[in-house]
Amino acid sequence: MSKIPLYRVRQIGLQFAVVNRANERVSPFFRRKDDAEDICQKRIEKVGTGLRRCLSCRAEFQSDGAHHRMCSYCRSRGAASVTPVSVVLNSGAQI
Ligand SMILES: [Zn+2]
Repeated sequence: MSKIPLYRVRQIGLQFAVVNRANERVSPFFRRKDDAEDICQKRIEKVGTGLRRCLSCRAEFQSDGAHHRMCSYCRSRGAASVTPVSVVLNSGAQI
């Protein structure tokens, strides 16, 4: 079993770029692999393991990046309507 990293460097033609798990390019092209690796590392450090706590229910979920701050459940039901009751229900097993 190989775990796919959140971001990795791919050679595309004669150049290098950082791609995400979906193989979508998330950086400009670099001529030097070192430059791409550098950006790749920064990306990974920025998002940590990719796990984030939901702003609404505090559940851990896999985040796509800085813009992604709520779990898919909360996002699908709309953040504005979240009540404190759901926080209690969802975080019962956590500290
Ligand atoms: Zn949530």
